[in-house]
Amino acid sequence: MRFLPVFLDLQTGPVLLVGAGDLARAKLRLLAAAGARIRWHSTDGRYDVSGLPPADAARIEFANGDPLTAELGGIIAILCAGAGDIGVAMSARAKAMGLPVNVMDDLAHSTFIFPAIVDRGDVVVAVGTGGASPVVARRVRERIEAVLPARIGDLANFIGRWRKSMHARIPEFPLRRRFWERVVDGPIGALVLAGRGDEAEAALKEIADPSAFAGAQAPGVVEGRVTLVGAGPGDPDLLTIKALRALQDADVVFYDELVSPDILDRARRDAARVPVGRRVGKPGIGQDAINKLLIDAAKSGQRAVRLKGGDAFVFGRGGEEVEALRAAGVAYSIVPGITAGLGAAAQFEVPLTFRHEALRITFLTAHKAKDAETVDWSTLTDVKMTVVVYMGMTAAPSVRAGLLAAGRSPQTPVGVFARVTRPDAQAVVGTLENLPALVEQIDGGPAILIIGDVVAHSAPWRHQNLNRVISELLEAAE
Ligand code: SAH
Repeated sequence: MRFLPVFLDLQTGPVLLVGAGDLARAKLRLLAAAGARIRWHSTDGRYDVSGLPPADAARIEFANGDPLTAELGGIIAILCAGAGDIGVAMSARAKAMGLPVNVMDDLAHSTFIFPAIVDRGDVVVAVGTGGASPVVARRVRERIEAVLPARIGDLANFIGRWRKSMHARIPEFPLRRRFWERVVDGPIGALVLAGRGDEAEAALKEIADPSAFAGAQAPGVVEGRVTLVGAGPGDPDLLTIKALRALQDADVVFYDELVSPDILDRARRDAARVPVGRRVGKPGIGQDAINKLLIDAAKSGQRAVRLKGGDAFVFGRGGEEVEALRAAGVAYSIVPGITAGLGAAAQFEVPLTFRHEALRITFLTAHKAKDAETVDWSTLTDVKMTVVVYMGMTAAPSVRAGLLAAGRSPQTPVGVFARVTRPDAQAVVGTLENLPALVEQIDGGPAILIIGDVVAHSAPWRHQNLNRVISELLEAAE
């Protein structure tokens, strides 16, 4: 991020506009509508404000003389639009004076840039692309426009009017935040959004005990909770809406080593982030210690998110955590995530089931060769079963041996899928007899194995076949 979005208080002084023509008039309209006072140096000497509402036009002062030497005391920002070379010179002057300056469509001479704006009264959303693409910014704005309720600004205004008095009645910050969340998410918020502000006002006045309304267990004591959230295999766009909401509400996030930084970025800005997973070469803090952290966080009134790669209940030890929380009497909920096997299937087009061909799926783990020895491979002989192996990289030779001993054909298609749904995802396909060699082609985990005839439908398998056909044709041609 090079440009930090900040909001300029237009009440503190006039904005200087330098320029002429349609470009200058467009900026004039924007500034005037926002309520700015404007001092306008027209570079062609014409001052046309027709079409502006009289109240807006009244805040425009027509300046004479050369903007490059004019007195600029009190000016809060400078804007050049349709100003030609004067814009560049003006930019140098503004920089020398330490005044923020924007030269339209000229990033090199600007110290601030205009975002695309969603304007809902008190709620304003600014969208920027660092000046790279106004078109992209506008597309993002359109999407935000579509999801924001029309009266969201009224809601902010409504809360703004009550904030002070509620501050006095609920001194505890976490409880106060919970109070406003319940107002916003509940019937009172709905009334404001429906344009029934008077009824909302009456309903808020009727709340006799705001602390209890906020869900306090005892006076002033807020209830904490733990949400187990499946983060999916890596792509942040694969988070569920519920997962996103939990991350946005969290006070603290306890995350595993499998959780990608992109996903952690989706958590509330001021949420504490605590790594509790194993690091490469270093052991983790241990399951008991994690359980204790979760329980302590909830008991101190925090909203904790336990964020895990994939799904918490698929080789994620979520079951143990939930049992510990239950035993400690801590409130919890579980948000499912896309498990690595499903991520790999979707990304590389491996239909895990297929009519007549694959009628069962087994998810198994073979963490170490020792684990692989405890797998009862004889239950995996069914050729119409797709086998998905988690943590199976180092145990690949044992997986191969086990399945072959159980009678699976050495020609069974297999795929090794690494870092799935991440930008550097990788797939290697082949047959069961070559599995250990395939695993060696992987440039780093995490990786998952999929074994079964369905792998022959996958995109990498089709590409491999195509490449083989092409090279055979080329050889024949030589
Ligand atoms: N709860 C997780 C699994 C945790 S076990 C889930 O539901 O996905 C860790 C194993 O998951 C890794 O060894 C690997 O086999 C698999 N895995 C997790 N993320 C992966 C990814 N992005 N790509 C490939 N495999 C992954």
